[in-house]
Amino acid sequence: MHIDTFGRKIDYLRISITDRCNERCLYCMPEGYQGWSLKPDHLTAGEIIRIVRVAADMGLRKFRLTGGEPLLRPDLVQIVAGMAAIPGVEQIGISTNGTRLAALAKPLREAGLATVNVSLDALDPGLYHQMTGGTLGPVLAGIRTAASAGFDRVKLNCVLMRGMNEGEIWPLVLFAAEHGFPLRLIELMPVTSGGVLTERNFMSSAEAMELLRQRDQLIPQPERHVGFGPAKYYQLRHTGALVGFIGALTNPHFCETCNKLRLTADGKVRPCLADHGEISLRETLRCGDGDTGIRELLQSAVLGKPQEHRFRGAFQPCRPMTAIGG
Ligand code: SAM
Ligand code: SF4
Repeated sequence: MHIDTFGRKIDYLRISITDRCNERCLYCMPEGYQGWSLKPDHLTAGEIIRIVRVAADMGLRKFRLTGGEPLLRPDLVQIVAGMAAIPGVEQIGISTNGTRLAALAKPLREAGLATVNVSLDALDPGLYHQMTGGTLGPVLAGIRTAASAGFDRVKLNCVLMRGMNEGEIWPLVLFAAEHGFPLRLIELMPVTSGGVLTERNFMSSAEAMELLRQRDQLIPQPERHVGFGPAKYYQLRHTGALVGFIGALTNPHFCETCNKLRLTADGKVRPCLADHGEISLRETLRCGDGDTGIRELLQSAVLGKPQEHRFRGAFQPCRPMTAIGG
């Protein structure tokens, strides 16, 4: 375990394994994003596994694969299996749009994947398409397969967009309750271009809570930690749903319990999603030396974590979320 300059325990690494995606979420993919036309220099499976080994040796315990869409990577099952075999790796999760989960849930479970977070912004197929550019049917099929594949947990993630999916929050709550999935409602963050986060389309956690209070009673679960993310959980008295709110923009205490580092698909450690600082591991990985250099770079990333994110100012992301790993 590593303690950063502000006393936070850093034991979680989120790894983007690709910046490519088969969806085009309004809030994530910058319009006209051309990053993919470049030849990707993504870390190989072996390089990812090596970094995880060094991180686990340093005391990091929880790992999440993300992207872009991680299920697009053909060697995903091999990456999970390699990570699962490393001593000290306690939990491997994945964040996915679910489009390929029906085919991959079982092999991933067998390879050692413990938890799955599926993005689901709407249950109305037309609205789902409008928000993501994708098709709802395969995502629901993926969620069903994941639910029966024996994972420790399947969670749903929904990004709140005013004027888009506020009418979907209640159907999503009922869906989550019916299947026993925790549902997380995520405040929109400015991770594509500064223009995505406007007052017109931003919906706060407090507003989403208010909408839910019109239907049910929210019972705070201050001790409830579902996974290792920053959500504040509430149990809905009548539906039984467990709903987490990720108030990245409105919760002034959001960063106080931050426990993570991020690794980009092209091998840069990012101490904070909302801070441009990055440390490249790629050259050190490829120079043929031992693991000491990688360890030192990971340690300096821990010490380089800022106290707070910078989303509340006029933050301009210089790389889209797909490239960083949401
Ligand atoms: N493709 C996978 C998925 O959609 O879950 C993994 C990558 S995605 C970047 C990871 C998470 O980031 C998803 O839950 C997505 O909803 C969230 N996300 C993307 N853009 C966001 C934004 N602008 N604000 C808040 N959350 C965002
Ligand atoms: Fe793709 Fe996930 Fe971003 Fe949507 S949120 S565009 S599915 S990476």
